Amino acid sequence: MAESRSNRAAVQATNDDASASKLSCVKKGYMKDDYVHLFVKRPVRRSPIINRGYFSRWAAFRKFLSQFLESTNETAPAKKQILSLGAGFDTTYFQLLDEGKGPILYVELDFKEVTSKKAAVIDNSSQLRDKLGANASISIEEGQVLSDHYKLLPVDLRDIPKLRDVISFADMDPSLPTFIIAECVLIYLDPDSSRAIVNWASKTFSTAVFFLYEQIHPDDAFGHQMIRNLESRGCALLSIDASPTLLAKERLFLDNGWQRAVAWDMLKVYGSFIDTQDKRRIERLELFDEFEEWHMMQEHYCVAHAVNDAMGIFGGLGFTREGGCESMSISSASSP
Ligand code: SAH
Repeated sequence: MAESRSNRAAVQATNDDASASKLSCVKKGYMKDDYVHLFVKRPVRRSPIINRGYFSRWAAFRKFLSQFLESTNETAPAKKQILSLGAGFDTTYFQLLDEGKGPILYVELDFKEVTSKKAAVIDNSSQLRDKLGANASISIEEGQVLSDHYKLLPVDLRDIPKLRDVISFADMDPSLPTFIIAECVLIYLDPDSSRAIVNWASKTFSTAVFFLYEQIHPDDAFGHQMIRNLESRGCALLSIDASPTLLAKERLFLDNGWQRAVAWDMLKVYGSFIDTQDKRRIERLELFDEFEEWHMMQEHYCVAHAVNDAMGIFGGLGFTREGGCESMSISSASSP
């Protein structure tokens, strides 16, 4: 039964894993994050391959986010908003503030158990709390942080009517350019819920980028092992068989109302999307000789991005068709 393969606490614990891995990267100099240490109780040192994997995930995400924040034209509003689904302990909002790139509104959603812990950490840290401004209110009990530009709210993403309520409670403006983040989240939900969320997002935001990062290819030896490992911890990838390939990830978006969608595996993302100078820098940080394992791992994770572009501002965003790599892009207009 789905419930025994997948349990709520175990899926929430994947967030602790992600935070510990990010901290491991930060300590080794892969990337800067002045806040993630506040969320990690027991720091661990990850292997070079895991560090490099997290770096590539982070670098791809940050490149997309920068492209989104820079996308504009003469008529588009300067205001932009960001919605993070299953945000966990992610600290991007605080990093953006430090970089002078804070959006008009940044909304983070997760299970109450997680938002409550995050609210407590924010409450306990003047470093974080002071950034939220004088109007901020923090309730650990409600798992809620409300401030002018940042909101953290509890919701079960599978409950679409509640999701709608939470978004309007957070004062998100459906007409503004919106960046939606789903990093290692939808894959843990049942396929109907994943589809419903993707569909809701497309119907709600007419100028939007959906950034998805998660596992693919359950059907080979590495994929079997990956799934076994996660299932044994109670974190079944309930959606992976419904979208097991890059094409299927694109279909997930195109069949649910998005105008464009492109999915690349992380091997290609690392090879053709992440900036060369960043790679040169991080490849010097640690001794690295697990190339075969690295290739296999990177082939089992992907980034998919989908775009709704009512304002016509996202023409240059995302993966390009240049560089001799075969196009993985399909558009809803040309699909049967
Ligand atoms: N996106 C973050 C955290 C990933 S871990 C990052 O990349 O670092 C997955 C997160 O999704 C967990 O925090 C978990 O609690 C959350 N999540 C999973 N299913 C959810 C659901 N149905 N509703 C709300 N949050 C959910």
